[in-house]
Amino acid sequence: MNALPFDTTPVFVGGRWRACASGETLPLLNPSDGTLLAQIARGNAADVDAAVQAAQAALDGDWGRLSAAERGRLMLKMSALVLEQADELARLEALDVGKPVKQGRADAVALARYLEFYGGAADKVHGETIPFANGYTAFTLREPHGVTAHIVPWNYPMQIIGRSVGAALAMGNACVLKPAEEACLTALAFARIAERAGFPAGAINVVPGLGEEAGAALASHPGVHHISFTGSVQVGALIQAAAAKNAVPVTLELGGKSPQLVFADADLETALPFLVNAGIQNAGQTCSAASRILVERSIFDAVVARMAERYRALRVGPATADLDIGPLISARQKEIVEGFLAVVREGGLNIAAQAPLPAALPAGGFYVPPTLVAGVDAKHRIAQEEIFGPVQAVTAFDGEADALRLANGTAFGLVAGVWTKDGSRALRVSRKLQCGQVFVNNYGAGGGIELPFGGVKLSGHGREKGFEALYGFSTLKTIAIKHD
Ligand code: NAD
Repeated sequence: MNALPFDTTPVFVGGRWRACASGETLPLLNPSDGTLLAQIARGNAADVDAAVQAAQAALDGDWGRLSAAERGRLMLKMSALVLEQADELARLEALDVGKPVKQGRADAVALARYLEFYGGAADKVHGETIPFANGYTAFTLREPHGVTAHIVPWNYPMQIIGRSVGAALAMGNACVLKPAEEACLTALAFARIAERAGFPAGAINVVPGLGEEAGAALASHPGVHHISFTGSVQVGALIQAAAAKNAVPVTLELGGKSPQLVFADADLETALPFLVNAGIQNAGQTCSAASRILVERSIFDAVVARMAERYRALRVGPATADLDIGPLISARQKEIVEGFLAVVREGGLNIAAQAPLPAALPAGGFYVPPTLVAGVDAKHRIAQEEIFGPVQAVTAFDGEADALRLANGTAFGLVAGVWTKDGSRALRVSRKLQCGQVFVNNYGAGGGIELPFGGVKLSGHGREKGFEALYGFSTLKTIAIKHD
């Protein structure tokens, strides 16, 4: 087993590390070689209940008494501590998620930046005065929801904790975090750093456990006042149903089938690394992965050939080897992606390139070959369903209207990229794309702390990241004062 810097088995509730109520643990595997990495708590409804109560006590006590500026200062202190430990956090994330260490480091730096951005914003969210009837002064206050629940997936734990817990803390909420059972080391490290930074007990609570146990208990707990969920469409629907019973607001960040549209006048030299990297980053396990590349027909063959060259040069290996691509998160995810690759082969689709898997890969790791599929019919499963692996589908289009029809022609709407030198077209197309974020002549898979992010259609609703998230993580109170 790899040496880990702390005991991974307790839950963190009310400022204390303690065994979970069940006393049971869950195995955490190292995706790079399939070996046991750690044991984590199998938190259950009793732990969730204790965490929600601790969060409420923090709101009623030391945490709730802090001014916005004091909250922000704590967050800035935490941001500095995260940066100080960025190498260690990168190593933990790499071991746990299977991502190359440099991606883990980028995630740690992003976590620090989220804490910095939201720490700095904590005392800058104002209400407004409203010109109401004569004899009144009316104004609005931005107040915390109260106890906020954060249910996060395994693909970018640090980034997703940063954007959702960061914004919630800035607005004065007390948080209960349920990390994914497949990867939760950096969630535990996050709580340890919060402790060192001096956050009052109960402001941040972490309860690892299974989704259907700890996650479901958290989503349905009547003491929770807001839920932020990032994960699959299926579980998102369960979360929304649970939230409906308690009439609490939900932010849902779900999946995607995000396209990059490449027009014939695009600057291909600039576009090419973005076209490929946005599909294979984190082994394609990125909600905003550009899993569809739509290319104007006159340059289709050239783009496929140039992307194929890049695919053949991709290096796959264990996270610690720090190459281009690591393994997938789990045997289950590998099975899902291999199922899609079988569909490609059996359907006789054109595999334009496949990066070779080196013979020396650790036998127990969850590796799949990055695969570029060209000439995919836009209605085909490969072009419609989220694969969540390093597989990209390239499809040709004829003109702007066709490009938009294809781009908008899935059930998802998260991110899109537009490559063209024609400024009017860039604006026209951007405005007609059905999604939450559009990048023109660049593409930021997972990036952009300052940029509001979220989906339409099955990709979810609500916005995280940027200043906008601060509105989502607070509630508005209107006060109307009658005077002479
Ligand atoms: P998942 O929905 O299975 O799990 C996500 C989280 O929900 C985990 O913490 C899990 O324990 C918890 N969970 C599972 N069942 C639950 C239940 N019944 N009640 C409450 N919580 C439950 O998703 P996943 O497989 O871990 O992640 C992959 C999916 O997440 C992909 O579809 C991907 O696109 C999406 N994702 C979206 C974003 C985004 O920002 N839009 C980011 C990352 C991942």
